[in-house]
Amino acid sequence: MRKKYLRLLIILLLALALLMIVSCKPDTKNPQNVKPTPTSAAAPENQASVGQPTTAADPSAVQPTAAPDPLAVQPTTAPEPQTAVQPSTPTQPQVVPTSIPVDYSAVKPNEIGEIPIVMFHNFVENLEETTDTEYTTSFSDFEALLETLYAQDYRLISMKDFIDHHISVPAGKIPMVFTFDDGSAGQFNLIEKNGSLIVNPKSAVGIMMAFHEKHPDFGLKGIFYLNMDKELKTFEGSGTLEQRLNTLLGLGLEVGNHAWGHFNFSTSKDKAQIQEKLGKNEKRLEEILPQVQFYSLALPFGGNAPEALADAVQEGEYEGTAYINETIMAVGYLPSVPSIHQDYDPGYVRRIRSSGKVEIQFDLGYWLPRMTRERMYISDGDPFTVAIPKGKEGKLNSDKLTGKNLVVY
Ligand SMILES: [Zn+2]
Repeated sequence: MRKKYLRLLIILLLALALLMIVSCKPDTKNPQNVKPTPTSAAAPENQASVGQPTTAADPSAVQPTAAPDPLAVQPTTAPEPQTAVQPSTPTQPQVVPTSIPVDYSAVKPNEIGEIPIVMFHNFVENLEETTDTEYTTSFSDFEALLETLYAQDYRLISMKDFIDHHISVPAGKIPMVFTFDDGSAGQFNLIEKNGSLIVNPKSAVGIMMAFHEKHPDFGLKGIFYLNMDKELKTFEGSGTLEQRLNTLLGLGLEVGNHAWGHFNFSTSKDKAQIQEKLGKNEKRLEEILPQVQFYSLALPFGGNAPEALADAVQEGEYEGTAYINETIMAVGYLPSVPSIHQDYDPGYVRRIRSSGKVEIQFDLGYWLPRMTRERMYISDGDPFTVAIPKGKEGKLNSDKLTGKNLVVY
């Protein structure tokens, strides 16, 4: 009998040891934008492999000796991309469906309320450097903005999770999406430090990474809309374009289509022209990173194509490269409805522009005091449940529930 117990104990210990090894593995899950091919699940080379050829066998060799630097690109500090959700496995504790029922009367979730999608353009050290009054943010203002948003219960989600309505911010928090147009250096660039490439701390992403160190629950999310014809002018700085994009994606950030040549779609002549402007941009991305695809478009100048050509903006093909835009982002001036709302139009999704040197009507500074908890999306903390207060459930597009539980309270 004792022998039998001993054997059982040994088996248990072995199982425990195995579990510990598995859970100590670095996070090698898929970054955003990666094509769902069988190889991508086991392809850690798209993680932050800065300064290393993409074939490097050991992604942890990126920063061999340096002391922990929150801005250094290390795969282990990369946040979890939220798309590969396997709630039942103990090795992925970041998305755990709540088994404890949410106290609806205290949290007052409203998962049909509005979600702000913020649009950023340029970032500079000192606003006096620029004559632009509307589209440039200083690093210090951006830092202060993050503090404000955090204190006001906003939490970042990815564009992909906005599209899929897979919203996993904690109960009582308001999801928010960050979008960045034009791939400017102030948004993100790499610099050399001790022989390695690191994210410039004086960039929006650098500031977000430092903020994320302090407040991991704020989220390190955002989508960067790129004009691939700009080549090395995109995120201008050190490193190749491949290294820059891999670093961004490795951090769990996303890239989106902003059209070849920053084309104004309101001037579209025909479908072929639209296919070229979108497909060429997609094609160049896939030449650099064959496993990566855009899935969202930000309209340059906010200019939309005439109604008759709208299909070609949503999806198409150019020289054998297919493209699809699951969301088409306007310049806009309003918070967006969530993708499960009856009024949601993926062909024209509203954004709010960040405040520049001069505050203008309908920018983020205008909206912040107006985005009351009554009108905004308040999370129930459970991505698999959609909780809506009684009386607002009529706004739900139930086709978009896709297996999620609906709670009307
Ligand atoms: Zn633009």
